[in-house]
Amino acid sequence: MKLTLIGHDRRFAVEQAVLNYFPKRDGGSAVVRLSESGRLASAVIEYGGKTAKGRAWSPPDTLPDGALRMAFYRAAKQIISPPPWGALTGVRPVKKAIELLDGGFSVTSELIRRYGVSPVRANMATDCAAAAVTLRERLEPKDIALYISIPFCPTKCAYCSFISSAVQSDRKLTSKYLDVLREEIELAGETVRHLGLRVKTIYWGGGTPAVLEPDELSDLLQRLYKAFPLDSLWEHTFEAGRPDALTPEKLRAAREGGVTRVSVNPQTLRQEVLDAIGRRHTPEQFFKAYRQASGFESVNTDIIAGLPGDDEKGFRDSLQKIISLEPANITVHTLARKRGSRVTLENTSACSAAEVAAMMDGAETLLRGAGYKPYYLYRQKFSEGGFENTGWSKSGSECLYNLCMMEELCSVLSLGAGGVTKWVGGNRIERIFHCKYPLEYIARRDIMKGKLTAFADFYGRSNE
Ligand code: SF4
Repeated sequence: MKLTLIGHDRRFAVEQAVLNYFPKRDGGSAVVRLSESGRLASAVIEYGGKTAKGRAWSPPDTLPDGALRMAFYRAAKQIISPPPWGALTGVRPVKKAIELLDGGFSVTSELIRRYGVSPVRANMATDCAAAAVTLRERLEPKDIALYISIPFCPTKCAYCSFISSAVQSDRKLTSKYLDVLREEIELAGETVRHLGLRVKTIYWGGGTPAVLEPDELSDLLQRLYKAFPLDSLWEHTFEAGRPDALTPEKLRAAREGGVTRVSVNPQTLRQEVLDAIGRRHTPEQFFKAYRQASGFESVNTDIIAGLPGDDEKGFRDSLQKIISLEPANITVHTLARKRGSRVTLENTSACSAAEVAAMMDGAETLLRGAGYKPYYLYRQKFSEGGFENTGWSKSGSECLYNLCMMEELCSVLSLGAGGVTKWVGGNRIERIFHCKYPLEYIARRDIMKGKLTAFADFYGRSNE
């Protein structure tokens, strides 16, 4: 979409709105203007042969970004079907719900009234805000979360842009990576002990952590428990990921090593869809892996709405089969056309926005009917239909790491390549992005050490 800005240079704010309502960026134009006083925003959008106008006022002493987005939204909603999140842009719509809850407002009705959020999404955000506030009350200032990245996968999925290496061809690289990770576990453990911090939740993500051999996993877990103060740990998640990477020996190593929660992710239970997205496993392999994982306190499964080759009925069947297993958590993602993924590069046709909307609304009804509640959610760029990714949980089984990380309730110390370390303290949030690639992580130990020093400095400054 061609953008013309008049009276301001808030391009980022306007582009966020464009992405939100016209994610395919397929033509059209918009003129977005700010009055001389800086308080009246207006937008004129021309798209698909239609012209629409919107206006919004900016409250005194605030940046005009909110008014610019609202003016754009008011014009856009005359052209496209009502966006599920209304005028809310950004990754974390639940932050707004938490602000409303903290302010004593009726969250659902205010999200609908102020931002045009759909009633279903407003209800979901309200549930997620309640879960975040409940956890926030349990957390102490010295509580942190720990993330460990294993950026290797058996093969690359068609919808993924994550920087992971194929483990078979990179076995030597994996082994060097684990050497540096062992070093980092030791150094990070010393830092955490020295600062008197308490690790409350651990999450192994990737990639596919289940590519680790059982002896590698046992060794890392033993080192982890030796290095870190884990006496008051609440939960320990191993995102096993793809069923084809999982074996009973690996699960045994995880269980004996202290893992309490595993994630086994089919994404769909239709063979033709699995084939279309390049996941080399069968639905039967998922069921087998799920049965093997059933000894853990909590099991999560991921499913994606809008995959190439899927349809509403097929998606519902997959979800119903997952629900019938009664996992503690089910995470429903929306397909996002990420830059660099095969579905984007090859312009693979997937479901329409209307089909995705039917899948997501159907999922909400099915999951609530089966006793699940949403507890965290986030949005991604280029998501079909502007929908979100949502973690659903049986009561009391919410993954605390997901809540801590998404709602920025405590610091997250990340180890390995591709992660983000985030310091949360007082009213401040600071981030450090790690080396993206395993090779860079191996070669640049100085960056890893610098991160740990910066982590310690942050806590030194927060105590001043
Ligand atoms: S398993 Fe996950 S991280 Fe690995 S390629 Fe597939 S989607 Fe990407």
